[in-house]
Amino acid sequence: MTDSNPTNTIALGIFGWPVEHSKSPQMHLAAAKALGIDLTYERFEVHPDDLAQAVAEKRAEGIRGFNVTLPHKEAMMDLIDEADEVALAIGAVNTVVHEAGRLVGYNTDALGLVRSLQDAGVDVSGRRVAIVGAGGAARAAAAGLGDAGAESIHILARRANRADALRAALSPHVRCEITAGRLEQAEPVFTESSLVVQATSATLKGNAEAESFAQALPLEVLPKDAVVVDLVYEPLETAVIIRARELGLRTVDGLGMLLHQGALAFQHWTGQSPPLDAMRSALALVTP
Ligand code: NAP
Repeated sequence: MTDSNPTNTIALGIFGWPVEHSKSPQMHLAAAKALGIDLTYERFEVHPDDLAQAVAEKRAEGIRGFNVTLPHKEAMMDLIDEADEVALAIGAVNTVVHEAGRLVGYNTDALGLVRSLQDAGVDVSGRRVAIVGAGGAARAAAAGLGDAGAESIHILARRANRADALRAALSPHVRCEITAGRLEQAEPVFTESSLVVQATSATLKGNAEAESFAQALPLEVLPKDAVVVDLVYEPLETAVIIRARELGLRTVDGLGMLLHQGALAFQHWTGQSPPLDAMRSALALVTP
């Protein structure tokens, strides 16, 4: 805590644009309540042009830390004093801790995904992974799964140049073989994959293309014991999850990743073991 925030209240928040739909406040407030910690967690809806100024203000006010969501995860890298190895590899931060006057950035999405798979009883080691999408979530997924012992990772995107750019950026940081290609060429990749991670925004609630996107994914060629994950958690039952389940495949939704990235952030800010059950219940309460 800095002099400009002399109370014992831990001040936290989340920067996004928009941010009103974020579930992070309810998750962290529930965790604080469960542990009897005095904590505030606010939404900071900030336009990208105003981000630097807003971060400077919160730093001056003595904020303890904050989460970062779309579209600020990459831009925040330039506004912090230090980033951990994972955030540097991914090129984006989702969690910042204000420690002794310095802003230290972390990316807990990567380990959050791995923990959610562990929760679901899915061992990543030795799996051949296909990641669909080449945005921030795909980047975090590749870093996390590479670290967790995946045998290989293939990135599939509708724009081949984006998939290849992601492959090139992550190659120096990911331990396993990493390749890239066009989404239209998913079939031969899926035939050999034992874990598919849907990391695009195509299956988001209200997206008219969700159904056709899911139908176009050649999930039917996956090995019968393959696992299909959709990182989107609104809705929980995405068109991809529904289709995979209909094909008899094992599925994991995106809520576990949300929970675990938040739990890791909570630990960074408070130094306390996160009360996972309270956090999980807080998320489930608003799940349709
Ligand atoms: P992003 O950086 O905006 O990337 C979105 C990606 O989706 C891009 O690669 C985009 O391709 C692709 N895409 C969108 N519509 C598509 C379509 N119809 N067909 C093929 N590709 C399509 O977003 P992000 O940060 O990666 O997040 C993606 C999703 O992951 C979000 O919607 C969010 O719900 C989810 N997420 C979940 C968690 C969690 O904790 N569970 C964490 C982070 C994100 P183009 O580049 O060609 O447009």
